[in-house]
Amino acid sequence: MLWYHDPHGAVWLRWNENGGLLSPRLSWCPERQPGADDNACVLFAGHPAPHSWDVVDPLMYARAAKVAAQLGLPFG
Ligand SMILES: [Zn+2]
Repeated sequence: MLWYHDPHGAVWLRWNENGGLLSPRLSWCPERQPGADDNACVLFAGHPAPHSWDVVDPLMYARAAKVAAQLGLPFG
């Protein structure tokens, strides 16, 4: 996601074989995580699988682990 636009969609930067391609505003994926209280997918509608709750961002995971370690909290 390049920037949050509004509750109905955002502007995304997508890549193809030739480099970056700025996409127009795309609606949010309407799916919600089964069994979760209110965990919506944060990707665009029609994205390739998987939904955001099944995607692990290694940088965000590393940051969360570091913050947990600094606070002395269990992580993982
Ligand atoms: Zn989704």
